[in-house]
Amino acid sequence: MSKSDRQLGMHREITRRDFIHGTGLAALSLGLGSGVVGVTGCQPLLVPTEPAGRYYPPTLTGLRGSHPGSFEVAHELAREGKHFDAGEDLGEEYDLVVVGGGISGLAAAYFYRQRFGRDSRILILENHDDFGGHAKRNEFHQGGPMRLVWGGVFNLEYPMFSERVNFLLAELGVDIDRLLERNDFNYGDDGKLGPAIFFDAETYGRDVLIPGFTPRHGDFASILGKLDAVPLSQESRDSLKRFYSARTDVLEGRSPEERRQFLRKISYIDFIRQHGGLTEEAAEIFCNATHGYAGVGADSLSAAECEGAGLPMAHLLGREPESSGSVGGEVAHFPDGNASIARLLVRELIPAVADGRGMDDIVTASFDYSQLDRPESPIRLRLNSTVVNVDEKNGAVGVNFIRDGKAASVKGRRCVLACYHSIIPHLCPQLPAAQRQALSYQVKRPLLLTNVLLRSSKAADKLGISGAYCPGRLHGATWLVKGIEVGEYRHDWGDPGAAVMQFWGSVAPAAKGLDIRDQHRTSRMRMLAMTFEDFEREVRTVLDGMLAPAGFSAADDILAITVNRWPHGYSYDYSDLWDPEWAPGEAPHEIARRPFGSITFANSDAGANAYTHVAIDEAWRAVNDLQN
Ligand SMILES: Cc1cc2nc3c(=O)[nH]c(=O)nc-3n(C[C@H](O)[C@H](O)[C@H](O)COP(=O)(O)OP(=O)(O)OC[C@H]3O[C@@H](n4cnc5c(N)ncnc54)[C@H](O)[C@@H]3O)c2cc1C
Repeated sequence: MSKSDRQLGMHREITRRDFIHGTGLAALSLGLGSGVVGVTGCQPLLVPTEPAGRYYPPTLTGLRGSHPGSFEVAHELAREGKHFDAGEDLGEEYDLVVVGGGISGLAAAYFYRQRFGRDSRILILENHDDFGGHAKRNEFHQGGPMRLVWGGVFNLEYPMFSERVNFLLAELGVDIDRLLERNDFNYGDDGKLGPAIFFDAETYGRDVLIPGFTPRHGDFASILGKLDAVPLSQESRDSLKRFYSARTDVLEGRSPEERRQFLRKISYIDFIRQHGGLTEEAAEIFCNATHGYAGVGADSLSAAECEGAGLPMAHLLGREPESSGSVGGEVAHFPDGNASIARLLVRELIPAVADGRGMDDIVTASFDYSQLDRPESPIRLRLNSTVVNVDEKNGAVGVNFIRDGKAASVKGRRCVLACYHSIIPHLCPQLPAAQRQALSYQVKRPLLLTNVLLRSSKAADKLGISGAYCPGRLHGATWLVKGIEVGEYRHDWGDPGAAVMQFWGSVAPAAKGLDIRDQHRTSRMRMLAMTFEDFEREVRTVLDGMLAPAGFSAADDILAITVNRWPHGYSYDYSDLWDPEWAPGEAPHEIARRPFGSITFANSDAGANAYTHVAIDEAWRAVNDLQN
């Protein structure tokens, strides 16, 4: 049934092979000739490619996200209990040392400078080879014109922004209304036949693509007309027909609070099986639709959580089904996602890095990474540096880190820890036991975003789709990324040429029924154990099964692959089925972020809420927690 590696094109030379195991400068010296002229639609665009040999991580392909070389030291510290010596005293003294160069760490540096003065000396230490944390930019040039996509964070969830976040974005020159004007991207719902579902041959016996049907909300009347094509048993197809035909209220007679509690205490999959009449096999097609943001299936999330995330059930609760089930909701985008926010912050903090100002030129601005860590700059951002010890003594902080295998130490008057909270007890054993325990409660959700540069989107266009849900596969969904334009960056739906197909998901846990945080831990281990070839074979198999009937060749039409694996992805935000209701002030994240001497705590973990605006709000709080 499954195709051979040769048929899928696993032997073809694409750029990723150069970088699979690459770490450090050797792998980072990828360069492309500068000044390449690309064509988007009819508009020629001068693409800011990088001179050969220049350090420029966004163009790297292969295994990215938590790339090889970024996490090993932290794992030695946290998993093996290894002790690292202080190493060379660099003699560097700062007003503030920030651990973690994600949006929260960058925002903390920004707010610190506002509060304590523009001449503040700040060092930001980051273990990855690029800044931004989860907000990473994937930049492709293999198909001609530059194609941008996010390697992690993508949505600006603007309706949820606090005044502080709106204020910061305005200072950085971000205008959400103008971003929305040129945004025509809808997570796989953009094809002329609407959203789609793809049942693959390895799981379901044959490849079947059904446009107009997804495991999210949708047009029920239209879905009902397509269910005969679903490659499940007759019994399961019949159960799907009953499910989509039902208009009932299975909780009739219960009070609003009883209904709320009921839906918070039953998993979505149990709910649609017990109250929607679906067979186990039919219910399973809804399961991995939640992987890409929750890191677990809909069997481990409550019905209430899944309804909020767009899975169908309103028709079982006395309401009309909702017709639109897009992943996004009310959101705005940059073409490289919130990497643009990270780039705006870095350009503001270290102006020598790039020319320009505001949102219009940030996407195409050329970044000179050699300026990030210059002694003459009051603010320095040091990449490839894993902090292994943070020691508070007499109102000052010693910070030890490992870079290029060597230990080094610096001093700060103050320190903001904007890194993952679960590593902090290992960095800072002097914290009170209750705080260390609270920090360890945070187990981030493992997530996966694999970006595949296709020679063109012709096959998908011909099929009338722009993506599909894939219930049997590693990535629960895939979608073409087009239609997000900012400044001079253009990539319209009508443009010919290369296009990125993004795959969204997580690695399923080793076993069902584990506690949610153990599920995250086992998924994380499995994700890290997978090779680039595993991911490559997976995306080639799906693209071949889905698009080959329209002339796509997995061997010829794939130009590059970047796997952004995030074993430590979304902040864990408590879960209806798995967490108690904490008393005010007693939730683990509230205990975890209590200031300790000259050390305060940022990161979206500090808000137990996985969003960019939370990362910024927590940075603001952490800077204000610092004493004068
Ligand atoms: C795939 C994915 C998609 C997402 N999509 C969205 C979205 O659409 N919208 C949204 O609002 N949010 C999204 N998020 C959530 C995202 O986490 C937040 O938006 C935000 O970027 C978090 O920023 P942060 O700085 O708090 O954390 P991070 O981005 O995790 O940054 C922390 C940094 O600290 C570094 N660090 C950790 N330990 C050390 C150490 N010992 N030494 C040095 N550095 C260290 C980490 O490697 C990391 O780079 C997404 C996350 C993922 C993974």
